[in-house]
Amino acid sequence: MRPAGKSWEMSELLLLSGGIDSIALAAWRRPSVCLTIDYGQRPAQAELQASAQVCQDLGLRHEVLEAKIPGLGSGRLAGEAESPHSKHAEFWPFRNQYLITIASMMAMKTGCDTVTIGTVVTDRRHKDGSEAFLHYLRLVLLQQEGALGLQAPAANLTSEQLVRQSNVSPSVLAWAHSCHSGPLACGTCPGCQKHSEVMAALGWSR
Ligand SMILES: [Zn+2]
Repeated sequence: MRPAGKSWEMSELLLLSGGIDSIALAAWRRPSVCLTIDYGQRPAQAELQASAQVCQDLGLRHEVLEAKIPGLGSGRLAGEAESPHSKHAEFWPFRNQYLITIASMMAMKTGCDTVTIGTVVTDRRHKDGSEAFLHYLRLVLLQQEGALGLQAPAANLTSEQLVRQSNVSPSVLAWAHSCHSGPLACGTCPGCQKHSEVMAALGWSR
């Protein structure tokens, strides 16, 4: 639902982390703006670099924002003890809500009317990757000035299906940084494991 008089042509801002899913979405959706946020996560520099390369290759506008909250994180991404509130090593309380809020501010600033996020079906293991989370956050955004839309076009797709749908080239996807632990792929964290599994499923393993 868009306010009266507003174009039905969407102007999307994509949250681009530089991982497989958001890179595939950048290639598929060709958003008006891609935003990468350094929120104090350990792999931030590698994510920023991957995102910048992808945007350069795809000819997309790239914005970078520093909004560091390292002291509030938990688990692998923060280099802290894991949170007792989740059994997943990469859990960081309210992370997606925080990132979507910042992305919404940037969307208003850059004239975008929709925030696009790279949630895929396997992210449902986190409460902030669930359909309910998306539903309620969508309502929260719609309630406010700007009535921004929130979309997760790959919410029902696996990463492999998303990559195939996107037609992203192997050379662009090769920039993906998936490790949760730091700037160099550790090979063992859930992010690295997912990276290997998706590349193997696609037949793009090196
Ligand atoms: Zn890793």
